[in-house]
Amino acid sequence: MRYDHDLIIVGGGLAGNCLALALKDSGLRVALIEAETAIEREKAPIGQRALALAYGSTVMLAALDLWETISTTATPIKHIHISDQGHFGKTRLSAEKEGVDALGYVITAHQIESHVSKQASQTELTVYCPARVVGLMSSDEATYLNINVDKQSVNLTAKLVVGADGGQSTVRDLLGIKQKITGYSQKAIVTTIRSSLGHNNVAYERFTTQGPLAVLPTTEGCSAVVWTRTNEQADDLIQGSDSDFLAQLQNCFGYRMGELQLVGPRFAFPVNLIRADRMVEGRAVIVGNAAHQLHPVAGQGFNLGLRDVLQLAEMLIEQAESGGDIGDPDFLKSYAKVRQIDHDKVVNFTDGLIRVFSNDWVPVAISRNTALIVLDHVNSIKSLVTRHAMGLGGKLNRLGKRRY
Ligand SMILES: Cc1cc2nc3c(=O)[nH]c(=O)nc-3n(C[C@H](O)[C@H](O)[C@H](O)COP(=O)(O)OP(=O)(O)OC[C@H]3O[C@@H](n4cnc5c(N)ncnc54)[C@H](O)[C@@H]3O)c2cc1C
Repeated sequence: MRYDHDLIIVGGGLAGNCLALALKDSGLRVALIEAETAIEREKAPIGQRALALAYGSTVMLAALDLWETISTTATPIKHIHISDQGHFGKTRLSAEKEGVDALGYVITAHQIESHVSKQASQTELTVYCPARVVGLMSSDEATYLNINVDKQSVNLTAKLVVGADGGQSTVRDLLGIKQKITGYSQKAIVTTIRSSLGHNNVAYERFTTQGPLAVLPTTEGCSAVVWTRTNEQADDLIQGSDSDFLAQLQNCFGYRMGELQLVGPRFAFPVNLIRADRMVEGRAVIVGNAAHQLHPVAGQGFNLGLRDVLQLAEMLIEQAESGGDIGDPDFLKSYAKVRQIDHDKVVNFTDGLIRVFSNDWVPVAISRNTALIVLDHVNSIKSLVTRHAMGLGGKLNRLGKRRY
């Protein structure tokens, strides 16, 4: 059978573009379909969210020849400070003690997306944009896609389709893959602040019974705020005045960075834990947010999606090199089996953090505070936790190790 492309990636966000880049020397004929233009994506408020990149992700971005450029706009995290509002327990993790330049980096989603998509557009990749997938059918031989491009309907065939089309994935829906949704009845408020004492490259994670607050160091001395609140509280904080918002933020965070000043608009996003029932259906596979959407508490969403993409790229390259069929459903299921373990681990960790830290039942509060105090004083445990925070707890695959 003659295919239009070997592989079609649906979605030109972080996962889709990183996959295209990982496959650039594979010899596979790859196409990417993206619904929104670069200008539309640049204007979307969600692009202003700050992403904390674990150290392990920077290693993988370096393997894709992306890190050198991205690092010019990213801010290093030298220390992580974790505390529990209303309790004594706290712990501090340090890059210096781990012998690394930074525990991670912070960058806005829009900045990293524009670096990645620019780099991908300079490869042999065929890009359909703006174009939206509206139909999909997978048979034994091929996956058939129907897309709307310039108000015209176009049909495409490929050996394999990868759905990297985010949380509202059309590919997932067209494949009939169901999702399991765990609602937290919370929203994440995102904004930017400046502080009288500066951020000193410290990332703060403060747990409160209403939800966690992350304050991350960014460029020009500013800090990005990701503040999770119950739905009602978040709506009030968004609708209230700037001074009310700032007073409540200062009250929750304290004065460890001095006086806070609001320097950016504020937006709220609902947060849920959403997982697809499965990653593979016929000759199609879903990756990144299409397969899992996490609570932003541990800043793991993109980091997990990047590991999906590099694992898939590595297996696709090996399959193509050995003359195998890249769309073979059994081969795709072997990919899913490998990824399932990492997904389960990250989901359980993130969900556990929310439940343990939002529980003010005295025995639970005492245990978690004891844990934070012990963690702060036992160097061997601290180092282990730090390596997990850096995204080095699991095994890096071959592409991720290529440079290091
Ligand atoms: C407030 C907040 C804070 C976060 N903080 C962190 C953090 O600190 N660290 C971290 O690692 N992660 C974080 N995340 C998660 C991270 O942003 C996501 O995991 C990541 O951006 C998902 O990338 P993706 O490419 O899978 O999906 P997306 O970025 O959603 O990209 C999907 C793409 O598919 C396109 N598309 C959709 N439907 C179609 C269609 N039918 N046809 C064609 N194209 C289509 C869309 O236009 C889009 O470009 C955070 C998320 C939020 C909301």
